[in-house]
Amino acid sequence: MNSKSVFELILSGEIESEVIYEDNDIFAINDINPVARVHILVIPKKKIATINNLNDSDVDLVGKMIMVAKQLAYELGIDNTGYRLLFNTNDDAMQTVFHIHLHLIGGQKLKDI
Ligand code: AMP
Repeated sequence: MNSKSVFELILSGEIESEVIYEDNDIFAINDINPVARVHILVIPKKKIATINNLNDSDVDLVGKMIMVAKQLAYELGIDNTGYRLLFNTNDDAMQTVFHIHLHLIGGQKLKDI
């Protein structure tokens, strides 16, 4: 758990990725393996391994992640057509990166995804 997550490596510049949104607490990138035309990851700079590890003190941070996703959906013009916001948690959800991230998925009908 002490090793850096891929998202921390992106934040520190050790792995290259285009940061499409950044503020003091949160950043966003395009998913490297998109499942839809729009697939963005909204990520807190603070590493929290899973949703199970959230504390009461993280409520504002998680709320802000949703507000960033909402704003990006608006800027990409998919707010009215629709989108999905998703946190995967642990094995059954097939979480692969243990640094929470909010998937913003849209730009097309998602019924098969
Ligand atoms: P999850 O399965 O919810 O843990 O999602 C992890 C996501 O991170 C997957 O959708 C991956 O495609 C994505 N991912 C992994 N490495 C990178 C990377 N270097 N840049 C962008 N997205 C990544």
